[in-house]
Amino acid sequence: MESHIGVEVVDLSKNYGSVAALKSVSFMVNSGQYFVLLGPSGGGKTTLLRLIGGFMRPTSGAVLFRGHDLTHLPPNQRPTSMVFQSYALFPHMTVQNNVAYGLKLRKLSKAQSDNKVGRVLELVGLDGLNDRMPHELSGGQQQRVQLARSLVLESDVLLLDEPLASLDAKLRKEMCLELKRLQEQVGITFIHVTHNQEEAMTIADRIAIVAGGELVEEGSPRDIYERPQRRFTAEFIGDNNIFQGTVIEQVGSDVKVDLGYAKIDVSADDTFVRKGEEVAVSVRSELLQLVGPDIDFANTVPARYVEEVYLGLTTSHLVRLSNGTEVAVRLISEEKNAPQFRSNQKVNVGWHKSSARLHNN
Ligand code: ADP
Ligand code: MG
Repeated sequence: MESHIGVEVVDLSKNYGSVAALKSVSFMVNSGQYFVLLGPSGGGKTTLLRLIGGFMRPTSGAVLFRGHDLTHLPPNQRPTSMVFQSYALFPHMTVQNNVAYGLKLRKLSKAQSDNKVGRVLELVGLDGLNDRMPHELSGGQQQRVQLARSLVLESDVLLLDEPLASLDAKLRKEMCLELKRLQEQVGITFIHVTHNQEEAMTIADRIAIVAGGELVEEGSPRDIYERPQRRFTAEFIGDNNIFQGTVIEQVGSDVKVDLGYAKIDVSADDTFVRKGEEVAVSVRSELLQLVGPDIDFANTVPARYVEEVYLGLTTSHLVRLSNGTEVAVRLISEEKNAPQFRSNQKVNVGWHKSSARLHNN
């Protein structure tokens, strides 16, 4: 029976000399999924992608494709093709020949090759540009040729290492949506590496956070953004504020946390904590409110107003807690409702209980 698991990574580790770049990482990617590996630079993403593509050997662990262990096979015998981080087009070859290059190595007839190249160029929106040289293309177009070169090989799995990193913000956004549509159209599995959170959110069916050589957690974009399990994820994704404290009481899923300057209530969800345990509570800045000192809210902590930072759509109001921690409260920049605060004025930061996440690691 054909497995719906396209790619399975099992306990994969990679050491470069004494550097442990990857530490026993495991995850599964369904066939036809758009899977994104997201994390800070140096976290091990490229290493992971290269191990999946077979460009180097793991120190230990395995990579399975549709249930078959292909860990020992070189890149050209795997059902993968790779779109590399930097443009690597042949500068002296036309678009047509750049894209046809991999097919030529496979000894396809010219007619077959022309047909496939034609279809792929149309798919990536480059039809008619067959005879252009790479230097006659924009950055975005060069990136499309790169993509076409990999797609034309008709592999089951496309591996993309920071494919949009060299594009400016606007073009990156456009290409993001295009990549997603393209993936839906061709229906193959994409594994896409990026350090850019917005890119990951836009494009992914599933996101795995990779940092410090480990898989921190994985989930849908919504899971990762709205319900981060780990403190690391909360700090990496979105604009989260972290409140540190000690558990003073747990009744069912209701946890009371002493922050030192205030006591707050938070839902434990799936997090298991003990009385006396040090925990972190995260609340995204757009879920915080600024309330006057006399207004009661579900959870409130006292603070002093610092300053506002205008961000366009939203304005970030910075306040300082009594322990010195700065907290950002983000409100829509609506002139008529804009709150007026003076520097050093006493304010309360409030939030609904359901807006906070509890982390014990
Ligand atoms: P990312 O792609 O997430 O930025 P990498 O996989 O490139 O991370 O790197 C992970 C870690 O391994 C980093 O600490 C990096 O310095 C190290 N590293 C990567 N490639 C090599 C190499 N060829 N030799 C030694 N160390 C390497
Ligand atoms: Mg990298």
